Amino acid sequence: MKPRSESLELRILRSLNARMELTPNDQTYFSNLEKGFRGEQEFDKWIESLANSRLILHDLLLEYNHTLLQVDSFVIDMDKVYLFEVKNFEGDYYIEEDRWHSLSKNEIKNPLLQLQRNESLMRRLLQDLGFPFPIMSYVIFINPEFHLYNCPPNLSIIFPTQLQRFIGRLAKSPSILKDTHSNLAAKLLSTHLTDSPYSRLPKYHFDQLKKGIPCPHCKRMYSSIIKNALVCHSCNTLEPYHHAILRNVEEYRMLFPHLKLTTNQNTYLV
Ligand SMILES: [Zn+2]
Repeated sequence: MKPRSESLELRILRSLNARMELTPNDQTYFSNLEKGFRGEQEFDKWIESLANSRLILHDLLLEYNHTLLQVDSFVIDMDKVYLFEVKNFEGDYYIEEDRWHSLSKNEIKNPLLQLQRNESLMRRLLQDLGFPFPIMSYVIFINPEFHLYNCPPNLSIIFPTQLQRFIGRLAKSPSILKDTHSNLAAKLLSTHLTDSPYSRLPKYHFDQLKKGIPCPHCKRMYSSIIKNALVCHSCNTLEPYHHAILRNVEEYRMLFPHLKLTTNQNTYLV
């Protein structure tokens, strides 16, 4: 019922990355967002099969009691709802008491704490909305290159090697939806916030950005035009000129929503 799309924050960072030097911190933040988004898309393919008899809402951003609640995937089943938090971690990690570390000893945020917090917020929200469904919540590790040492079997985690069976079991369980379920979905969609007020974008200014039209695939600037097409010499992409111009105008509007598009900014386009 709600497809996933890139956040405005991710789209702006992609554009800035092609047009300015991001600081190492911003670069890390940006690549984590990209990686997270790819992981979520991967999980979407897995749960597609559930859509016949369940409602799926991707990437919900809700507010409850002045607290933000972000849900990667939310599935409404006949007698319960599922809340999925997708992690695209790669490499070896271990748990020591409640703390999570990478093998290089860096402590990372415990994803189960985030899940518990989200589940508790969602429970109160559903109660307030008048849909007190039981909630099943899971952290999904989507990357087959992920391993977790010292993990007890009773945690709400689905590993890549369990995903097939987990989704298979879910798909087999009967689910008949009624109006209540659609009403719940509609209610959640109507309270969905479009953009996270907590985005961490670097400061940028028109004058400081590299001008030109970046190739949509490799993000390097086009350097030549043949007939009516722009040509990327790095990855051999050909794009009709008018198409690239429109794309650039859109990008300009996204980066500078408060600036007027005038002919003075032509330097931006060519
Ligand atoms: Zn290219």
